[in-house]
Amino acid sequence: MSVVLENRLTMLSMDPLATTEEESARAASDYANLTAHLAADTAGTMAGQRVVVVGGGVIGLMTALYLTRAGAQVELFEAQSLGAAASGRNAGGIYAFGRAIDEVALARASMDLWEDLSTRGIDSHFQRPGHAMIALNDHERSLLDLAERHYALAGLPTRMLSPEEAVAMLPGVNPDNAGALMGTTDGQGYPFTAVTSIIAELRAADAIIHDHCPVQSVIERGGHARGVRSERGVTEADHVILCAGPWLAGFSESAGCNLAVRPRRSQLMVTERIAGLENFPFVSGNRVYARRTHAGNIMVGGGGPWEQDGYNVTSSYEALSFLGKHMSELFPGLAGAPIIRAFAGTVELTADHLPLFGPAPAMAGLWISAGYNGHGFGLCAAMGRLTVDLIRSGSDSVPLPAAVNAVVGEFGPDRFNVKQGNSHE
Ligand SMILES: Cc1cc2nc3c(=O)[nH]c(=O)nc-3n(C[C@H](O)[C@H](O)[C@H](O)COP(=O)(O)OP(=O)(O)OC[C@H]3O[C@@H](n4cnc5c(N)ncnc54)[C@H](O)[C@@H]3O)c2cc1C
Repeated sequence: MSVVLENRLTMLSMDPLATTEEESARAASDYANLTAHLAADTAGTMAGQRVVVVGGGVIGLMTALYLTRAGAQVELFEAQSLGAAASGRNAGGIYAFGRAIDEVALARASMDLWEDLSTRGIDSHFQRPGHAMIALNDHERSLLDLAERHYALAGLPTRMLSPEEAVAMLPGVNPDNAGALMGTTDGQGYPFTAVTSIIAELRAADAIIHDHCPVQSVIERGGHARGVRSERGVTEADHVILCAGPWLAGFSESAGCNLAVRPRRSQLMVTERIAGLENFPFVSGNRVYARRTHAGNIMVGGGGPWEQDGYNVTSSYEALSFLGKHMSELFPGLAGAPIIRAFAGTVELTADHLPLFGPAPAMAGLWISAGYNGHGFGLCAAMGRLTVDLIRSGSDSVPLPAAVNAVVGEFGPDRFNVKQGNSHE
């Protein structure tokens, strides 16, 4: 049984018992190498190339943003409304703390890019309030002690809070807590503010955006993707990138491999404004997580066995009762806060909880970036930026830079590799 099931540390994806010190140290060097790589300016590196982006969630929009900044001519298709799926219905957490050790470098780099974007035209309400993971018993505390060692080796700034310090720093927290581990640099943003800001820059840069316009098929000629077909007819392109989130599996035939992404509901609820919580960080524990909005509301989320696969985005009483009960146990001081609204979205799950990022095996010029397993808002900045490298590695026959390959080498879309044949125009 995994560590996630044995305890109630909601956001601890890392198994501290199975992680080695060597892996943790590698996360630090991967981050340093990635940071050095990302400092290079990409402006003009994709000048004259036509790229179609399929999907207008944060992954597709952020990808379009970085491609546009690199000089590509981008045309984006969205089946529904821009940002209407999970990308506009999430908690806005931009975190590295709590992640599996082999995701830490990428998640840290993405946080840095979010911060950089916030100083270069993209309004996301980005801030770094930190993330406190709260233990409610000695077993959870011992896992946090081990996790602290690994995150420190990985270079992630953390601080262990005693139960008394946790009470002082986290107003309303359970006074019988067993301590909390704080990732002091974790961030958060506002999903729709970010989406709106990205769309504004894309429009200003003459990117073409079609919403309510699903892509029906990828067009192939001579083994190369040459564009897409939609109700607007054929759109020609040099590259097509699939950012269709949980809908990705529908493109398996074109890609020539099983793009196995499963949709599953995830729910959030929001309290009315609560005074006195101005410095409230992102918090998690007891199977729930929570953040504060700028206005002072607390948003509470968490998954559970009641959530089903599929595209149902109604809120359920069962889930909201669970979130209320568990948040009240973690923060008795917030118990009874009135809930003013609730919403749900669809997360995109892969079998090994790693993204699908890389070339489609069956068609040159067809690329995939999806399946972010409920972490796509935080990761989208890095994935958008790295897509410039990915496409250049295909079109210019430049190998994927070592710093990039070190962190995305495991994400090949064909790793589940059930061949499905190919499609032709
Ligand atoms: C309740 C909840 C809380 C979350 N909290 C966080 C969090 O705190 N931090 C975090 O990092 N992540 C969080 N997530 C996860 C995050 O929202 C997702 O990982 C991210 O939004 C995925 O973005 P995406 O663009 O890949 O997918 P989506 O947002 O699902 O977008 C995919 C888009 O592709 C479009 N599409 C599909 N097929 C086609 C087609 N044929 N043609 C054109 N368009 C097509 C769809 O209409 C959709 O708009 C949360 C998710 C939920 C539901």
